[in-house]
Amino acid sequence: MRSYYDDNFGHWNIEDEDDLEHYRRTQRTNVLTTCRTCEREVMLQPQYDQCDRCATAEENGTAY
Ligand SMILES: [Zn+2]
Repeated sequence: MRSYYDDNFGHWNIEDEDDLEHYRRTQRTNVLTTCRTCEREVMLQPQYDQCDRCATAEENGTAY
């Protein structure tokens, strides 16, 4: 099992080829976006405007 990182979803633990293909497809369709919370430039899916770190912090109720 290998671990990959992506700004949309954070860490991915990838065990098989289907997951790896899904990961690669996500990477290919990401666009450079400025996160609305931390204002870092991150690679996100076009419909997202917030990186995984900020989304996780919000879900957990912790300030970034
Ligand atoms: Zn962010």
